Amino acid sequence: MPDIPFDRAGLAWDKQGGLLPAIVQHADTLQVLMLGYMDRAALAATLDTGRVTFFSRSRGRLWVKGERSGHHLLLEGVEADCDADTLLVQARPMGPTCHLDRRSCFPAAPSDFLAELDAVIDDRHRTRPADSYTTRLFGDGVRRIAQKVGEEGVETALAAVAQDDSALLGEAADLLFHLQVLLRARELSLAGAVGVLRDRHGDAPPR
Ligand code: AMP
Ligand code: ZN
Ligand code: ZN
Ligand code: ZN
Repeated sequence: MPDIPFDRAGLAWDKQGGLLPAIVQHADTLQVLMLGYMDRAALAATLDTGRVTFFSRSRGRLWVKGERSGHHLLLEGVEADCDADTLLVQARPMGPTCHLDRRSCFPAAPSDFLAELDAVIDDRHRTRPADSYTTRLFGDGVRRIAQKVGEEGVETALAAVAQDDSALLGEAADLLFHLQVLLRARELSLAGAVGVLRDRHGDAPPR
């Protein structure tokens, strides 16, 4: 379990009857997943167990998210807002977060699709389902995948020069996908490459 650093001192517990709203966000896709409430005990349990725990206002007790469904939220980070009366929790969900079997309680909550695709590609890499193009690529090996990236790069360049917008978008999509597969085949990820871009840019990372 990761040790999540978080300074609990100074939180505005008294402002809202001992409860703080806690917005839960997917640690990878950044999608907003749900809103719950935490009292001191719920926050302590969350930090101690690494499983996001709320205070259920309807049941009047601590509620470990996933206690019945098994769809726990594994804690990745937590921070308080500017006036310390709201929490932002980053987590990795073990299944659909919404009890209506949806990933997010907000059906149209935006999500970083390249991060979603990275997770799908990682799943294919680990489980190798039959009848999957991605499985076949992994089976072909790094050299073949690298060759595909080269081909898609050339096709992207040619489409740009030919001023064919729809071809350029399609080839750029092929290039991104095969690049993600190549990175994964080398046990790396798009997130790693994005981290390099972020470091070059010089901004402090968000977490
Ligand atoms: P779970 O914590 O996933 O085992 O779900 C236990 C119960 O909590 C469900 O039967 C719902 O009543 C409720 N519940 C689960 N997830 C949510 C959610 N995202 N928002 C509100 N209520 C929920
Ligand atoms: Zn606030
Ligand atoms: Zn819901
Ligand atoms: Zn192509």
